[in-house]
Amino acid sequence: MNKNDSISGLILAGGRGSRMGHVDKGLQPFRGSSMAAHVLARLAPQVASMAINANQNLDTYAAFGVPVWQDDLGGFAGPLAGLETGLRRCATPYLLTAPCDSPFLPPDLAERLFSALQEQDADLAFAATQEPGMRVQAHPVFCLVKTALLPILSSYLAGGGRRMDGWYKDLKAVEVLFEDADAFRNINTLDELHSLDPTRPPRLADVTSCLSAYDPEALPVRDAQRVIREFVQPVGAVEQVALRAALGRVLARDIVSPINVPAHDNSAMDGYALRGGDLVADGDTRLNVVGTVFAGRPSEVAPGPGECVRIMTGGVMPAGCDSVVPQEFVAQESPGEIVLGAGTIRAGDNRRFAGEDLKAGSAALKAGKIIRPADLGLVASLGIAELPVVRRLRVAFFSTGDELRSIGQALDTGSVYDSNRYTIYGMLQRLGCEIVDMGIVRDDPAALEAALRTACENADAIITSGGVSVGAADYTRQIMARLGDVTFWKIGMRPGRPLAFGRINSNGRSAFLFGLPGNPVAVMVSFYFFAREALLRMMGADAPLPLLRARSEGAIRKKPGRTEYQRGILSHGADGMPQVRITGAQGSGILRSMSEANCMVVLHDGQGNVAAGDMVDILPFEGLV
Ligand code: AMP
Ligand code: MG
Repeated sequence: MNKNDSISGLILAGGRGSRMGHVDKGLQPFRGSSMAAHVLARLAPQVASMAINANQNLDTYAAFGVPVWQDDLGGFAGPLAGLETGLRRCATPYLLTAPCDSPFLPPDLAERLFSALQEQDADLAFAATQEPGMRVQAHPVFCLVKTALLPILSSYLAGGGRRMDGWYKDLKAVEVLFEDADAFRNINTLDELHSLDPTRPPRLADVTSCLSAYDPEALPVRDAQRVIREFVQPVGAVEQVALRAALGRVLARDIVSPINVPAHDNSAMDGYALRGGDLVADGDTRLNVVGTVFAGRPSEVAPGPGECVRIMTGGVMPAGCDSVVPQEFVAQESPGEIVLGAGTIRAGDNRRFAGEDLKAGSAALKAGKIIRPADLGLVASLGIAELPVVRRLRVAFFSTGDELRSIGQALDTGSVYDSNRYTIYGMLQRLGCEIVDMGIVRDDPAALEAALRTACENADAIITSGGVSVGAADYTRQIMARLGDVTFWKIGMRPGRPLAFGRINSNGRSAFLFGLPGNPVAVMVSFYFFAREALLRMMGADAPLPLLRARSEGAIRKKPGRTEYQRGILSHGADGMPQVRITGAQGSGILRSMSEANCMVVLHDGQGNVAAGDMVDILPFEGLV
């Protein structure tokens, strides 16, 4: 790309932004900065200097570090007014304009317009493109103009002319055809802007539009799970913690082994290290013992043919030896001599190779892994003292309902103790979240809005229970929807049909929202089958539910068309295979059955009645995470 010292660049950002819902187009966030900043970054390297033509938000544009010129004409007269101002102020013989909503403009725009203008001795040059089978399309706002043309433009404007391609009809203008039509694509609507910006979090409508048949009033479980999975975003922030403190946390980056593990070839057994070539195929092998190697105490001994070395497990293999015979397989007929029969071992047996566990430079652990005890040991074996982990997810939660009482309060008629906050506490604790318990919120619009805002400003995710079911006061939905991008689903499942999900904003902060139903069993089911995986994804972990199969002890009635979650008790059958039976009452308020259960039986939506002996999916409670 050549910088042309005779050209100044001007970004035309003087519009009202009416097509963008009256927001300033150039200042719209786009791929980590703003649209005008992208145009600036593309144009600046091509020209001697840059300026911006703007008529509002002048201070914000000034922060771009280039001069900001307001229309001399006033009254948002359109791009020509910006061009006129540019021609008047510019200090070079040529001025090149580009609109503020063209973040993909070509890197050779100035060069190609300039050479066409020179070659044809023209007054101005503008870009054009042609898509296959289409007419040539002119882009007169991408225009290189001789600065000396100012008086002609001014008289056109004074006569009321406003058309970008109207003022130069008596001048010599050349059209320069560019191949890449996308480079001139300008972004006119917010929808277009958002669809082009992969760094912008998706909107629920974007995600749900990918489903073939989306009906929020009857949403299959897997569709709800998919929308949630695609909508949530990882928090990203990383912290370095001491190895032990990493237990249960999510690894933020791959851990590359700095060493070979084991570092040396060594013995897998207590026995005798020998040369495989000494083994006699059809008779006894007799070897002289010439030394001893202990683990951690390397020895210089180098046995010759017919010799061996006594070696302990983990001892470094002596030079020349490639096999170990376990001590229990040899006889000692005379001091210093061992005998082993034909075929006792094969050459190469019981030798561990350097780097067999892990080679230096290979990934020992992958980012996204939840650190378990074995991982602690593995990392320790590499001599690594600290791990980069994703910062803990902050989750705020509260219960809603006028009937709820906290432990310690009197239980007056019609009221119940708030149990959801305790089950939710337990489930979040198991996921390793940082917990913000916000207590009980009354069924009152102002209280609910205040609680949601506080939660949003203090946490990455919010979990509420109650108030989202049909019949619940309408304002819950209204308030949640007003605070952000929230959808209300009736999910094809039992228990736990209603669910509110989305992201809300308050004072510049945002948080993902899971509005779970109030019923104590429904709360747990919705948490495990919707919130759990989403929270783990926010923590950077990919941990789908560990469903297993077990044989159903009895028949289970099940209607096809919805997913049913039944509380089950998993045990071992007479044949040692896993089997499951349903716990008694399955009412969605009966927490006792949840407490008695050790798993959930998952009956998928296509499934009908289950006969005794059929295999079913189960989700064991222990080992969850
Ligand atoms: P809701 O979804 O608000 O209509 O509540 C459904 C049922 O769950 C009602 O019987 C509530 O009393 C009960 N419930 C709601 N929240 C809780 C809670 N935090 N603890 C115990 N029961 C609750
Ligand atoms: Mg309620």
